[in-house]
Amino acid sequence: MIALALSLALLAQDADPIGDLIAESGDSFAGVSDLSSACIGEFREGGFLLCNYGPMSRVTLGDVSADADADGWAVIALPRQAPETLNFRVELTGPQAQDPVLIDEPRTIAQREYDLQRVNGVPQSTVTPDPSTLPRRQREYAQKQDAFNSTWDGQGFLDGFVQPADGITTGVYGSARIYNDGSERGVHWGLDWANETGTPVVAPASGLVTLAEPDMYYEGGLIFIDHGQGLVSAFLHLSDVVVEEGQFVEQGQQIGAIGATGRSTGPHLDWRVKLRNQFYADPSTLLELDVSGLR
Ligand SMILES: [Zn+2]
Repeated sequence: MIALALSLALLAQDADPIGDLIAESGDSFAGVSDLSSACIGEFREGGFLLCNYGPMSRVTLGDVSADADADGWAVIALPRQAPETLNFRVELTGPQAQDPVLIDEPRTIAQREYDLQRVNGVPQSTVTPDPSTLPRRQREYAQKQDAFNSTWDGQGFLDGFVQPADGITTGVYGSARIYNDGSERGVHWGLDWANETGTPVVAPASGLVTLAEPDMYYEGGLIFIDHGQGLVSAFLHLSDVVVEEGQFVEQGQQIGAIGATGRSTGPHLDWRVKLRNQFYADPSTLLELDVSGLR
């Protein structure tokens, strides 16, 4: 189960990773530069990173912090907008650590540009909802918050991620959006694929279904999957939901079908990924992660 691709993941089995690192490198500076490669993913705005500095380690990038699981994995991410440098810190949290700080240094964060998209034809009721729908929207908001706060202790993220549906890309992460000629503005947090209603939607990685609803006010058919450590996928506008809350799903297993329910102009899947209910990062960076050989 432990990763082979990362030399540090092997060290994760040992009680004192610091001692082993220093013994292997013979030079503390070289040891630190080796440590820099213990994350998979890119230090760029919207990027997800899987890091392994051994069990009982804590990884902190800017304001985002993660405690490693029993195999040493810690999932972190960068928000849509981040400064050009952020402090990256790795510390050991176990009682055996003599010098608990492994890394404490600024890291360059690659900057991105985001498009502006105009989206017309969205049902006006979802742009300026009738006040009578407020109780329903409040109830659904609380339900989504509960599901986003899920912290399943599995490791679905080690599967790597596959595209959850086939189709034409019609929306990308981070673009600023103006709906129905300016009546509302927002950021588009997901990746969109347009395809016919009924096109299968599959789990991009294994995980626990924490929400499965056929008819949410804004999202229509909606499913959440926790892939571990609060890395939660949301699938919007579904015409069919074929899983239930509390169910475990494997990567590639069908969970639902593309639809045009909720705030939608036509049949498409909108896939969003939120980290520990803090912010959405870019799902495409999960598709790019090379996890071959991790387990
Ligand atoms: Zn979308």
